[in-house]
Amino acid sequence: MARLGRSGIPRRTADELRHMRAAGKVVAEMHERVRAAARPGVTTASLDRVARDVIERRNATSNFFGYHGFPAVICASVNDAVVHGIPGSRVLLEGDLLSVDCGAIVNGWHADAAFSMGISAISPDAQRLIDTADAALDAAIRQMRPGRRLGDVGAAIQHVVSSAGYGSPRDFCGHGIGRAMHEDPDVENRGKPGRGLELHVGVVLAIEPMLIGGGRDDVRQLADGWTVVTADGSLASHAEHTVLVGEHGPEILTRA
Ligand code: MG
Ligand code: MG
Repeated sequence: MARLGRSGIPRRTADELRHMRAAGKVVAEMHERVRAAARPGVTTASLDRVARDVIERRNATSNFFGYHGFPAVICASVNDAVVHGIPGSRVLLEGDLLSVDCGAIVNGWHADAAFSMGISAISPDAQRLIDTADAALDAAIRQMRPGRRLGDVGAAIQHVVSSAGYGSPRDFCGHGIGRAMHEDPDVENRGKPGRGLELHVGVVLAIEPMLIGGGRDDVRQLADGWTVVTADGSLASHAEHTVLVGEHGPEILTRA
């Protein structure tokens, strides 16, 4: 059982963290392989197979496949898709903005991470949207220190995103992670510094800024029941890591 911190967010033991680091390494390898395979002419379904191959070789389990019936081990969200795109027959083209989200389970412990990338040459605007998602995630990760609060994490993301003129969907956010992929608390992509639950050593959160290029926050879901797209048709980007509040600072568990 997870120990509850004073804040109410579970604090992971050394043993639990060992499994979460192992799951994180699998996710990092999935990212690496998918990134290398994503180029003009390939389908998003073929990227799902690349990720599935890593899961199988590492004797891990997917926490995406079968999640409320989700049919794949990655989400592949292209251009105006923000999150939850279903891999399929769509062929990637030069200039596409691809976001990939995936996770893994090792010995019952979860990791979850996402990245966005350009397919071959992309527009400077699209690249800036990707870079800003990475910058927002970095800023949030720097808040993952004992004594900081959830509001500090959200505020760090909000500052980077809104300073760049981008929007962010209000109904989607990061989350606690451990024995399940989605645990309490919600980790919102906005917040007030100094507010919210306190972070203690051993807390692990999945932090995931989602950016809307058009600057508004509105999204809608496609008829497939999954894909979330920007309401104004503008590009979107997404970045995520599973991050530990370590004794000496943040530790990214989903980095190779
Ligand atoms: Mg997540
Ligand atoms: Mg994710």
